[in-house]
Amino acid sequence: MATVIVGGGIIGLSTAYCLSLLQPELASNHQIHIVDSASELLLSASGHSGGFLAKDWFSPAVSSLGALSFHLHKELAQAHDGPRNWGYAPSTAYSLAIEERGVGSKKNKGKDWLLEGTSRAGVASAVTGGQEQMPSSEGAKRNEMLNDDGTPAWITKQENGSLEVIGSGDSCAQVEPRQLCLWLRKQCEDRGVKLHTKCMPTGIVKGEHGEVVGVKVSKDCEVYEKNCKNIVITAGAWTPNVFQKIFHSSNLRIPISSLAGYSIVVRSPRYTRPILDPTRHGENSAVGVSQGVFCAPSSSWAFAPEAFSRVPPDGTPELWVGGLNDSHMKLPKLVDEVENLQDSEKMEELRNAAVLLTGLSQEGDNLKIDDLKVVRQGLCFRPVSDNGRPIISKVPETALGHDIKMSPGAGVFVASGHGPWGISLSLGTGQVMAEMLLGRKLSADISSLALK
Ligand SMILES: Cc1cc2nc3c(=O)[nH]c(=O)nc-3n(C[C@H](O)[C@H](O)[C@H](O)COP(=O)(O)OP(=O)(O)OC[C@H]3O[C@@H](n4cnc5c(N)ncnc54)[C@H](O)[C@@H]3O)c2cc1C
Repeated sequence: MATVIVGGGIIGLSTAYCLSLLQPELASNHQIHIVDSASELLLSASGHSGGFLAKDWFSPAVSSLGALSFHLHKELAQAHDGPRNWGYAPSTAYSLAIEERGVGSKKNKGKDWLLEGTSRAGVASAVTGGQEQMPSSEGAKRNEMLNDDGTPAWITKQENGSLEVIGSGDSCAQVEPRQLCLWLRKQCEDRGVKLHTKCMPTGIVKGEHGEVVGVKVSKDCEVYEKNCKNIVITAGAWTPNVFQKIFHSSNLRIPISSLAGYSIVVRSPRYTRPILDPTRHGENSAVGVSQGVFCAPSSSWAFAPEAFSRVPPDGTPELWVGGLNDSHMKLPKLVDEVENLQDSEKMEELRNAAVLLTGLSQEGDNLKIDDLKVVRQGLCFRPVSDNGRPIISKVPETALGHDIKMSPGAGVFVASGHGPWGISLSLGTGQVMAEMLLGRKLSADISSLALK
């Protein structure tokens, strides 16, 4: 019997991909379905996020999953040419602190992103204590985007600003998340996973003994049924709504809310060549690197910008800038409605910060020339759980509603609420979710991530 995965963002795709690897015949017999209500995939957070990956920037409850996922990202990239296919590259992470007159240091610290589910600013210095070494200067001149000392040349020198290394390529990396999702999607489809867009779950189908045997879905307003044994809800910020819609009589509220965030991807005519690792020579000299800069609010920007340099599959470097959130924006009913909610003033504010951060810089002077070409910009909603940890869990049968009975060995599962870390934790989540579905031993300790 089939598994229906509701939501085709990075968590749903990773789950389907890992399940198809662990049990290929399930996929080849078309027994894995991804149903998604959007007209196309990746209109949501997974298509717009920054793609920064960390190995150990997590609280103890998430650390095992974080380490597994970082390892799986590296392994997948090595096995399938991740650098070329989805821009995988080790990353050096910096904190940019700006000392403002009369205000004191604005160094990022003290904020707990796990509880706030907002920005990553601060967490790295809290974890590493800022102990990392500056990257080597050897060979850095070969790159337009690197200074002689290996620091990012694409960041405008800020008055009274200082960069501190808070993470190195051993424990940080980056991907182009949209490309990774597209790659996962293609792998899933090639293996036989069925993808259904414009498909909204509306309830369950019961068998002759009252047990759950499928999900009702409306596709273009007609009602279909998908026979299944397991249901996995991976609908990001929409997870609570999806659960309620399927299990009408349940009193359970999945503790996930949403946080809207803006992002922009830009290119500059100054940067045309891939960013290569300055420390590698000879055969390995074509190894790419990426850099992430995490900033605190300052008089130049009222929010905490994050800026990442990365090289997508076409080889032309691009810069992703985000960090501008809107905590008042309500989640729309449909994913396709998100685009219309964009506030042009907020988008402009983000673009201005991108220009101030990455505008052309000269010795002793900040020219801040706006030569940035927008590749993509957007608004999306992070799924944020009440306790700041992802939820990866089987839903207890008693919580599904008084009229719901599952057949032996069947289950309803939730994998969501990854907040600002869904890309980093994606492959690990997919792996443990697939293991849970198949009743296997889990590769990470996720005992603290269960629904209470
Ligand atoms: C600005 C920004 C920057 C970020 N940067 C990073 C980063 O650098 N590193 C990192 O690790 N994480 C980052 N994140 C977080 C990351 O993007 C998210 O945690 C992750 O994308 C969540 O993935 P998801 O699959 O759970 O949800 P989503 O990507 O939101 O996917 C949910 C899917 O469910 C579908 N859906 C919704 N309603 C229904 C329904 N009724 N029926 C069927 N399907 C439905 C949607 O169409 C969508 O396809 C960032 C997030 C934001 C907003």
